[in-house]
Amino acid sequence: MPEMITWDYGINQVKISMSYPLRWVNSYVLQDSSGGVAIIDPGPRNSITEKEWEKALEYLGYTLHDVSEVFVTHHHPDHYGLAGWFQSQSDCLVYMSQRAYDESLMMWGEDSVINTELMLWLRQHGLPEKWTGQMEQHLLDFLPQVSPAPDITIVKGESHLELGGLSWLVIETGGHAPGHLSLYNRDFGLMMCGDAVLPQISPNVSLIPGSDPEPLNTFMNSLLKFNNVEVKQAFPGHRNPFSTFHKRIEDLLAHHEQRLLEIEKLLIQSPQSGYEICATLFGNRLSLHQMRFAMCEALAHLQELVRRDKAQSSSTLNGGIIFTATNKPLGSL
Ligand SMILES: [Zn+2]
Ligand SMILES: [Zn+2]
Repeated sequence: MPEMITWDYGINQVKISMSYPLRWVNSYVLQDSSGGVAIIDPGPRNSITEKEWEKALEYLGYTLHDVSEVFVTHHHPDHYGLAGWFQSQSDCLVYMSQRAYDESLMMWGEDSVINTELMLWLRQHGLPEKWTGQMEQHLLDFLPQVSPAPDITIVKGESHLELGGLSWLVIETGGHAPGHLSLYNRDFGLMMCGDAVLPQISPNVSLIPGSDPEPLNTFMNSLLKFNNVEVKQAFPGHRNPFSTFHKRIEDLLAHHEQRLLEIEKLLIQSPQSGYEICATLFGNRLSLHQMRFAMCEALAHLQELVRRDKAQSSSTLNGGIIFTATNKPLGSL
């Protein structure tokens, strides 16, 4: 049975297993007075998580058939994965934003070419063959975690939704994932924030070909949207619920500004590829999965420096891409 914690207002946190280093994703089960069950972010699909759900629902006095709604904050497999499986069990509604749905098609749709595109693009940015050679298969391995794809009921940002007997304002942000939806309950100051804001972990911000071309700028601007609401308790996608939501946003913004400065300094020393910057920031003793996130995050920062006119990218003779600082070192001509 997965670890479960019951919070106020009938919110049940269910820790669904996932791979290292995150270890678990938080799903939230909300029960309304009419006997319906809503699940926020069901987790990745595999034989272990299916069993965890059967046990968790049984513990709460329900079966899979009682699930009437699944709300998906964003299209990443650790959140969206089991949505289609739940729908195949109980014919439940699956809520998601249009943008998140489009991203899910780009990543896992029948016509998806992202596996090859991402591999070629990371190679251009200097990622060695040791990683690129396994990249296509690595991405294909995610397919079982997100199959079958559900039929989606589109939810828009700024709309209102009733779930689990509570009224929620839908807040759409980007940067970690395009079309990410958080749910805010004004009556009690509750925020279901998925991976938009996480305690302890800085949500990954990835530049990916064909997706948001300015993800870090989007991420930082998106966080400002949360300034308009008062949050007493935040329920994140990873780690544990926390009450310091607004302080956490300040810290995340400061972290990214600091990292941008760090990278600019490295570029002022010498022009570098995305991989060289990535290896300096994150090391290169990473698993393939970690390396993909590290590369795409380093490139999101480099792209933001380009957007701010702090850096420029140019092609090398062998078809690679290299970044150069706009500002020269002090004392040089
Ligand atoms: Zn995510
Ligand atoms: Zn996640």
